[in-house]
Amino acid sequence: MHKIKNYINDQFLLPITDEWIDNYNPSNGEIYGQIPNSSTEDIEEAYKAAKNAFPTWGQTTIEERSRILIKISELLEENLQRFAEAESKDNGKPISLAKTVDIPRAASNFRFFGNAITQFASESHESVGQNAINYTLRQPIGVVGCISPWNLPLYLFTWKIAPAIAAGNCVVAKPSEITPMTAYLLGEICNEAGLPKGVLNIVHGLGSTTGQAIVEHPDIKAISFTGGTATGAHIAKVAAPMFKKLSLELGGKNPNIIFADCDYNEMLETTVRSSFANQGQICLCGSRIFVEQSIYDTFKTDFVKKVKALKVGHPSDSTTNIGALVSKSHLEKVIQYIEIAKEEDGIILCGGNEVTIKGYENGYYLEPTVIEVSTDECRVNQEEIFGPVVTIMPFKTEDEVLEMANKVKYGLSATLWTNNLKRTMRMSNKLQTGIVWVNTWMMRDLRTPFGGVKASGVGREGGFEALRFFTEAKNVCIKY
Ligand code: NDP
Repeated sequence: MHKIKNYINDQFLLPITDEWIDNYNPSNGEIYGQIPNSSTEDIEEAYKAAKNAFPTWGQTTIEERSRILIKISELLEENLQRFAEAESKDNGKPISLAKTVDIPRAASNFRFFGNAITQFASESHESVGQNAINYTLRQPIGVVGCISPWNLPLYLFTWKIAPAIAAGNCVVAKPSEITPMTAYLLGEICNEAGLPKGVLNIVHGLGSTTGQAIVEHPDIKAISFTGGTATGAHIAKVAAPMFKKLSLELGGKNPNIIFADCDYNEMLETTVRSSFANQGQICLCGSRIFVEQSIYDTFKTDFVKKVKALKVGHPSDSTTNIGALVSKSHLEKVIQYIEIAKEEDGIILCGGNEVTIKGYENGYYLEPTVIEVSTDECRVNQEEIFGPVVTIMPFKTEDEVLEMANKVKYGLSATLWTNNLKRTMRMSNKLQTGIVWVNTWMMRDLRTPFGGVKASGVGREGGFEALRFFTEAKNVCIKY
């Protein structure tokens, strides 16, 4: 059985306490490997390696850092097939998705921040009439912690690591215990790319032990976290008394608002994707669909027909649209929400059942599920399910749908389908989310600020926002 190791100081190390956690393959429910359950001692080793590497890495020229990041990106591209297979096996997502989205995006993250750092600049302010000039230094923080979830494993892991090291920091990083494989493989790529030892250290283990040890470490000065809202709140509580810098990208319950004047076919195609891509396990999925009354019945018929045609299958089958959910416990949680919907008088328009795939009977498969709800206040419309489950309901007016869209604790993203420019502007201004997509979904430009409001998080990632997070601003005032 394959044993994953920690990557510390460019070495692959066993956990000091020799404790291990089983790693499951969601497509067949079998254990296929083990990962370290790293302790505070392992974190201390990773921290020391990062601390020792920092004085040199923080002073390495921008050109050299950029060159190494771009080299990592190229090596990921060269290893696309191997990484995509590993991601698909570990997570249950269709191989086609891992190959076209997850791994290419992980490569883009390194390339993007390798380029962005060469353009990152700071301000200067001449204090006119006072014979003084102020300039801002943007210095790396030192050792920082990056903690990421299981839904887009390498994609989100590298979205944090790349800007952190581009800005001159050294990193202690932990991927989700449920999907550790591609983070493990990344260590090999970093060595091959010539990333100096200790700049990136990857430790594996449970959130409650390994993750907690990173957050509690007094000298890890900043934490970039993506994951659930409850975990984010806990991390904030632990980190706040130590005055750590925090970036929290948390849950979502995103509205997909469809007006009758939209380009119908494009909307329909995209809505199937925004509902069920990655088995609905994307924080940006539009899980609450609101449809203007005049097209509601037509949409309902067409949408359900398309959803029923999606193929639930083994992740390695190239014709699969919906793979396996990430874990047994997550599958159970999603099924529980389908039961809650029934108790709340939701109407299951399609799906709702587990799927048995021949030869993979113990895998975690679920039909894509559409639930018609009569009120936006029911639990399935308010709580994050994070699976292949969406709700649909009609609305009559712009004010009504805006109120429903905003009446959740989350505020990550919203999608709006309309060809009315004035309405687009009105709604975009008033939607309480960090991101608004109009007539599209999940179209990403890595320069843009990414993040949520309300219970969806604090801070922004992406572009120079990420480089600002991973640096401290220092004002220098010189009188002449
Ligand atoms: P979790 O919050 O359970 O875990 C996220 C990461 O935090 C994992 O690596 C986990 O480790 C770790 N962790 C758990 N407890 C602690 C702790 N006490 N201290 C430090 N680290 C800890 O989220 P999931 O992995 O279940 O991911 C799903 C969630 O992520 C959803 O809510 C989703 O919306 C959100 N998400 C948000 C995104 C955004 O950009 N806003 C993007 C993608 C997902 P382990 O898994 O090993 O226990």
